[in-house]
Amino acid sequence: MPFNRPVNLTDLSPRLPEIFAATPGKANVIHLNNAGSSLMPQSVLDAQLDHLKLEAMIGGYEAARQKADDIERVYDSLARLINCQRDEIAVVENATVGWAMAFYAIPFQPGDRILTAEAEYASNYLAYLQMARQKGVSVEVIPSNEAGELCLHSLRNMIDKSVRLISITHVPTNSGLVNPVEQIGEIARAHNILYLVDACQSAGQMPLDVEKINCDLLSATARKYLRGPRGIGFLYVRSAVLDQLHPPMIDLFSASWTSQNEYVLRPDARRFENWENNYAAKLGLGACVDYALDIGLDAIQARIDELAGYLRANLKEINGIRLHSRCPRQCGIVSFAIEGRDSGEMVREIVDRGVNVSSSSPSSTLIDATRNNLPVLIRASVHYYNDLKEINRLLEIVSDLSG
Ligand SMILES: *Cc1c(COP(=O)(O)O)cnc(C)c1O
Repeated sequence: MPFNRPVNLTDLSPRLPEIFAATPGKANVIHLNNAGSSLMPQSVLDAQLDHLKLEAMIGGYEAARQKADDIERVYDSLARLINCQRDEIAVVENATVGWAMAFYAIPFQPGDRILTAEAEYASNYLAYLQMARQKGVSVEVIPSNEAGELCLHSLRNMIDKSVRLISITHVPTNSGLVNPVEQIGEIARAHNILYLVDACQSAGQMPLDVEKINCDLLSATARKYLRGPRGIGFLYVRSAVLDQLHPPMIDLFSASWTSQNEYVLRPDARRFENWENNYAAKLGLGACVDYALDIGLDAIQARIDELAGYLRANLKEINGIRLHSRCPRQCGIVSFAIEGRDSGEMVREIVDRGVNVSSSSPSSTLIDATRNNLPVLIRASVHYYNDLKEINRLLEIVSDLSG
């Protein structure tokens, strides 16, 4: 009697035909720009189109009322994705808005210190600098060790009573580096320091659990590894810190106007939202999270690691390729330059030949770029719906361009 091969839970192979078929863009283009904006699955596209049609047919407010339960369920999906309560989630316009609503809600005092990582995202770092100008806080970069990873030992040595915030990008925009968010979280928790994680590139790419990370605040966007729509993102706010934070702007949704001189904030994380919503995008966000959860974040991560590892290993074999992958632990973002070639021009060449990649300029992660002397990089970011044939096509093109 034939017996079934035991199913490896992290093995996506049996589902790949179904996954490929549910990605309409895959028939059209080789898409290795998932760190920019992924190809949406059919269910995410449908969720949005259906709602847009409903709005056109019965009216926008009426459509939102008719779909109120589905809209509310988006919070349950997000809560499952990161292991929190639904009332700890705010759905906002994008990750930048979510992150900024949290950051600018922190009551900084002159002399407070903000600790961050080398590969910090430009927009976040700009906000630190603005806070330094306005409130006299200091911004300090936790150094990396020889392996290129954030040095936990240095972080421990930097801690004192004046550290107000540890703010880290989980996976930077310009490389496959994965910062040790859980170990950083242990340190933050032990010293009762507020901890903010930018999970823009990790959400949808790997499991995220705010209890394991021990973060107080976490922001992410839909369009990247979550495969959701553009122009929508979310913010997690741990309920235990909610009342220490006052949203930097409020409106009639986030607060109620109770008398001539008074208002009260909403009792949940939705005090960081405002009244008007792109409901089609919101439903698309729910659909992309449900889709990722159905496939499984462990399985997604395992396949991304496999494909990205294959790409890196083969790029190394091509003469004249400089890979930006200092540390051993790497995820789906593969960044490199071709010696003697302008990366911007190379990206145009690669895209012209049918493979979507993007570029990453030093100014998007200035400290990492300066410390590691990085040029503009070509960024190929792989997802689980990609395959070896697609990656081989990129390798062929790069090998041709570098020759
Ligand atoms: C893309 C990105 C952001 C900004 O996300 P938006 O949705 O564009 O606001 C923030 N941080 C990192 C690390 C990113 O890659």
